[in-house]
Parts: sequence; structure tokens; C-alpha cells
Amino acid sequence: MKNIDYCIVGGGYAGLFFAHQLIKHNKSFILFCKDDKSASQVSAGMINPAVLKKFTTFWLAQEQIDFLRQTLNEIEQYTHHYYLIDEHVHRIFHDEAERELWLKKSHNEDLAPFLNPQFKKFEGVVNPFETGEVLQSARLNVKDFFTDMHQFLEMEQCIIYDSFQYSSLSAEGNYHDFKFSHVVFCEGMEVKNNPFFSDVEVHPNKGHHLTVELAKELDTKATLKKKHFLFPLENGLHYYGGTYDRDTDDHEINPKAVEQLKNGLSEFYPHDFTIKEVEFGFRPTVKDRRPIIGNHSEHPNFYIFNGLGARGVLNGCFFAHELYHHIENLKPLHPEVDLMRFKKQKS
Ligand SMILES: Cc1cc2nc3c(=O)[nH]c(=O)nc-3n(C[C@H](O)[C@H](O)[C@H](O)COP(=O)(O)OP(=O)(O)OC[C@H]3O[C@@H](n4cnc5c(N)ncnc54)[C@H](O)[C@@H]3O)c2cc1C
Repeated sequence: MKNIDYCIVGGGYAGLFFAHQLIKHNKSFILFCKDDKSASQVSAGMINPAVLKKFTTFWLAQEQIDFLRQTLNEIEQYTHHYYLIDEHVHRIFHDEAERELWLKKSHNEDLAPFLNPQFKKFEGVVNPFETGEVLQSARLNVKDFFTDMHQFLEMEQCIIYDSFQYSSLSAEGNYHDFKFSHVVFCEGMEVKNNPFFSDVEVHPNKGHHLTVELAKELDTKATLKKKHFLFPLENGLHYYGGTYDRDTDDHEINPKAVEQLKNGLSEFYPHDFTIKEVEFGFRPTVKDRRPIIGNHSEHPNFYIFNGLGARGVLNGCFFAHELYHHIENLKPLHPEVDLMRFKKQKS
């Protein structure tokens, strides 16, 4: 029997950012990861402190962005690669009223760090009312982040590409040849198969995105956003997405979502484009839009880290740190993300 500090189940943003905390603090661990593309790997990787429908911001946005930058610097120390692409999001205004609303909001104390009051017009796209720049926004190089993190974990021999079998885990943390002190479940929507946490209220929000080839190149590397995000990938192609669908959980490409994306892109990109690939994934969402962190009532060393919603990068990075210090240093969790908030409602 091999004694190991931690078992992580799932290799999306939740699992990998938690793994980083363990690497940083010299803890031993094994991460179990199915050999399929997680929702995280399908994501756009946007890091965006503004809500671009109503031009607002959200809980801990500044703290999360600062913490992400610090964490990516730490990860760079061992993967020798920096994954933040410092290109801002530019929101294409639908009309004059939106433009005015942005300007007004950009003077609010909480939004001034994020909404640039100076507008910009882009060549080659339809933007008659100009665009609003989201300061401090960026995007993660999703492909390289996952490739490098997996490679590093392989080199350190702490990743197993296999489905974790819940029935083989004992209450004491024994699993085949391992004895784990703590087990952290980070399965995204597949938490529904986890007998310890299947009752936790996480709901799927299916998102599709396109990989497209543009007939006429854009002369910007910035992220353009009207209905969805458009930005260049490394290989001359562009990412466009993603859609939101709370009503379906089937594992098929939905033609309506593809149509929505095609129409959305045509609204501001006036040339032809070829769809090279369509992908989809399931955002694990929670009614109150906050992550879910906590331990099992009967197995206190079994933890859930889930509910990252539409902000997997920021939530995953920030709350992996919270969870680590909660386990190791008994630091209280923010009540807003504590699993207990649902237990209290039920009793
Ligand atoms: C189209 C789209 C675009 C998005 N864009 C953005 C964006 O721009 N910015 C942003 O921050 N977020 C974005 N998101 C949201 C983000 O992807 C999610 O918040 C995030 O993926 C959730 O991460 P996770 O680690 O909890 O789950 P996942 O990424 O789903 O990872 C869970 C992993 O656990 C594995 N697993 C499950 N059960 C087991 C088991 N028994 N054994 C082994 N492995 C198991 C799964 O196979 C999976 O690999 C987007 C999502 C979609 C779908």
C-alpha cells in the first residue's frame, strides 16, 4: 500500500488548479483523468471581469484576476511557459443606447477599473457604434495549458488516464494499491455519477463553439464580442463561441446551436467563413452562480470542488487555493461557496 496525500478525480480547470496547489506545497498526489476532452478543454479560456450583457462586474473579480496572474507565474516556473494572452475583449455595441450605457457605467467606482470610456472602431468588421474595451481582460492559451500540465504530471508520474472507480474507494481512502489521506472530486457535470456527491445541485449548461477559417484575415489579435467571442487561435483559425443551453444534456451536436453561431458571426463578420470543427461541453452551473466546495458529512476526507459555471478559469484558480487552505490549515470557506449553504436550506 502506497501512502499518498491526495487523490484528485478530474483533470479540468478544477482538478489542474488544485493539482498546482499541491505541487506548490510539496504534497504527493495522483490525479485520475478520463482520456476525453473536458468542458475546460473546449472552453474559450476567456478571463473577463465584466458581464457583457448588462455591463456589470461580479463578486471578487479583481481579486480573482490578480490571483490568476500570480498563479500562472508560479506554473511557469515548472512548465516554462506563460499561458496568459494579454489581448483585451472589445464588446461590439448593438446601438447608441448600449454605447451610452457603457460610458455611464465606466464612471462607476466598481466598474472604472474594467470599462474603458474611450471607444474603438475595428477595420474589417461591422461595428458602426464602435466597441467598448474591457480593461484587464485576457485569454488563457487553453490548448498549451492542458498539454503542458498533463505532460508535467506524466513526467512526475502523478497522473493516471483512467476512469476513477467509486466502488473501489473505501471510507478510509484505500483505492487499489493506494491509501489517500484526502480525496478531492473535480468531475464537472459527471459528479452525477459520484455516489458520495450525486445529490449536489449542479446543473448542465451546454455550450457549443466553432473553429472557423475566415476568408479575409482580421488585422487584430484582440477578442471581439457581440453575441459570442471571436479570437484567433495559433494555427491561423479562429474560435467563435460559446452558446448557452440549459435545456438539453444529450451528447450530440445541436444544429440549432450551430445555426445560432453562424448567424451570430455573420452579424459582424461581413465575409465568408468555413466551419472546420464544432465542439460542445457542459458548464457545471449552480442556481446562485457560485462554486460548490465542501466535504462529505460521513466521510470528512472526501471533498467536492465543482460548480465553476461559465468562469472555470477564474473560479478554478481562485477557489483551488481556498480549498487547499481549508483542508490543510482549517481556513474557513467563504459561506457563499460552502456546500453547507444548501444543507442549511434543506433542514
Ligand atoms: C463552449 C464553452 C465555452 C466556455 N468558455 C469559457 C471561458 O471562456 N472562460 C471560462 O472561464 N470558462 C469557460 N467555460 C466554462 C468552463 O469550461 C467550465 O467552468 C469548466 O470547464 C469546469 O471545469 P471542471 O474542472 O469543473 O469540469 P470539466 O472541465 O468538465 O472537467 C471534469 C473532468 O473530470 C473528468 N472525470 C469525471 N468523472 C471522472 C472519473 N470518474 N474518473 C476520471 N475522470 C473523471 C471528466 O472526464 C473531465 O475531464 C466554457 C464552457 C463551454 C462549454
